[in-house]
Amino acid sequence: MNCIVCDKNPAVIRGLCGECLSNHVQITTVGSVDVTLCPKCDSYKIGNSWSRGKVEDGLSRKLEEHLVRKDPKVTVRVRKDNIILRRLDSRIDFHTEIQTDNVSVPGRSMSIPSKILLNSCPTCNKISGSYYESIIQLRTYTTDYSKIIDTVLANISNMLDNLDSSASDSFVSKITRVKEGVDIYLGKKTDGIKLTKYIHDHYFSETTITKKLAGRGDGGDLYRYTNLVRILNLKPGSVISHKGSALILQKINANTITVIDPITERRIDIVQNEFYNGQYTFSDEVSEIRDFIAVSSDNNETQLMDKKNFQTLTVKGTHHGEIKGFDYKGKILIFQSVS
Ligand SMILES: [Zn+2]
Ligand SMILES: [Zn+2]
Repeated sequence: MNCIVCDKNPAVIRGLCGECLSNHVQITTVGSVDVTLCPKCDSYKIGNSWSRGKVEDGLSRKLEEHLVRKDPKVTVRVRKDNIILRRLDSRIDFHTEIQTDNVSVPGRSMSIPSKILLNSCPTCNKISGSYYESIIQLRTYTTDYSKIIDTVLANISNMLDNLDSSASDSFVSKITRVKEGVDIYLGKKTDGIKLTKYIHDHYFSETTITKKLAGRGDGGDLYRYTNLVRILNLKPGSVISHKGSALILQKINANTITVIDPITERRIDIVQNEFYNGQYTFSDEVSEIRDFIAVSSDNNETQLMDKKNFQTLTVKGTHHGEIKGFDYKGKILIFQSVS
């Protein structure tokens, strides 16, 4: 007997051929299924936990949770032998099988969006921490750990999770916290360069890249690259010295810092390269920040009152409302006025 719908293929169930049954059941996918594969072993992560073995075994079950069918009398299975992970296209292709009345017929081939990541699994990280081509050393200018390191790490975490998905050597080997900062070990040299550039573009910092022969492989010499990134973590009010004169740090931006010359009270912008050419030095000295209220102004001079001790003093310029100033050796340098 031929199928009652198409009259083309032989009927297998309820008078329908497999194709027509599968159209009738109307299977659709919901959501997406993300997978992380360990490039060094057969571990994979679906959801939050790592498993070992064939990723298809874990995936077929997971994919079934993401299928919706119109006909509740049928069971839809995902075939393990035909699951294809398409990293570049960010999707998983698979075949379904429809089971009803003890008969199974092939269902449609389907796709679901999927972020497929390559990342070393915790076991491999522990055993080896081994393979890496590049290290990013996040540091500040002092030897102490600073919160800015955590901020930078949080800001690049998305990039670390989404390294170039077309290359099998593009992965995070490990991230370790050391006394002075954080070391990020990467499988691929160019990822190190890309991330280092990103950090340098977004934080006032100095980068130094060094390479070291790490061994010999089939393709010739193997090098390891160390990207040292030193991030300026001075506080507003920090005293910087330049050719014997003091400058007071007002603010740090990604590419420039603004300093105040306490003698002329001029603002000066210094770009990264200029700052790191060796002519600027700094210590722990920080000018105290004081809060004032402008009482009156006249002839380009303003009388201020200290909010804490009610002392009054006069500064250059016309200011209104609440004002903040650095106290550098008794001289008040206004850096923020809100009127
Ligand atoms: Zn048919
Ligand atoms: Zn592994």
